Amino acid sequence: MSSVFTKIIKGEIPSYKIAENENFLAFLDINPLKIGHTLIVPKIEEDYLFDLSDDTLQEMMLFSKRVAKAMKKCIPCNRIGVSVVGLEVPHAHIHLIPIDGISDMSFERPKLNIHNEKMKEIQRLITTNFI
Ligand code: AMP
Repeated sequence: MSSVFTKIIKGEIPSYKIAENENFLAFLDINPLKIGHTLIVPKIEEDYLFDLSDDTLQEMMLFSKRVAKAMKKCIPCNRIGVSVVGLEVPHAHIHLIPIDGISDMSFERPKLNIHNEKMKEIQRLITTNFI
């Protein structure tokens, strides 16, 4: 099913891109729970994460690991939390969230609204640390 994430993957709408390869894209969540909150999406259109093939899911987790390592290097936090929700956008994705405590993982908290310059700065920081 086509969603806003397909438009991002195709470059039809802008995103703060963090990393990309043939099969996956990482970009900043536009309404983050914490500064640096990043989404990992497969380029194929699949709604539910656990409907992805074993190979794709495995590769996606390894790609997420590289992004999480880059985030941890440059965003002050205790660790990078991992979450899967998918109730808002019907395109499989993994949330990577810099956290200091369990409450930082709560999607019931108000989302942050970070201005463009700050988002670009975070994007640059994580991108620079991605290997
Ligand atoms: P969920 O589907 O419940 O896992 O949540 C989808 C997430 O996608 C939310 O955290 C949104 O803030 C985020 N989101 C929605 N539209 C965009 C967009 N255009 N760019 C970046 N993140 C988005």
